[in-house]
Amino acid sequence: MNILKNRKDDNVKKICCDVIGKELKSGKKFLANRTASGEEWIPAFVQKVDVDKCIGCGSCVKVCLGNCYELKEIIVDGKRKKVAVVVRPENCLGDCHCHKACPIIGGAMSCKPKEISETER
Ligand code: SF4
Ligand code: SF4
Repeated sequence: MNILKNRKDDNVKKICCDVIGKELKSGKKFLANRTASGEEWIPAFVQKVDVDKCIGCGSCVKVCLGNCYELKEIIVDGKRKKVAVVVRPENCLGDCHCHKACPIIGGAMSCKPKEISETER
């Protein structure tokens, strides 16, 4: 399993942004906003947690402003395992704080930008 040794590593941001970047190459339009400094920001909204990658550390639960996650106990291969579960995805702000806090390289959670139609632009 890929776990970051140093969470201050630039890779945290790069990998997170690379995930979002791949989504944006399809030529589709996505919900966008601006940061306080005026740069374009594409929020990425939480979808689910990969229970095979998650180590149940609870960092995402602590940093999430939307209260989107809960830690739950599940059974994997007959063994009990604590994992984060997305229980309130509708609260997601798309800020990627969970990705940055997650010790798993690339994040155990997946987030996606919101696709928008012509009429929503
Ligand atoms: S992107 Fe932000 S609001 Fe959404 S689940 Fe992650 S930490 Fe919570
Ligand atoms: S931060 Fe990552 S590893 Fe920790 S509980 Fe959340 S999804 Fe799992």
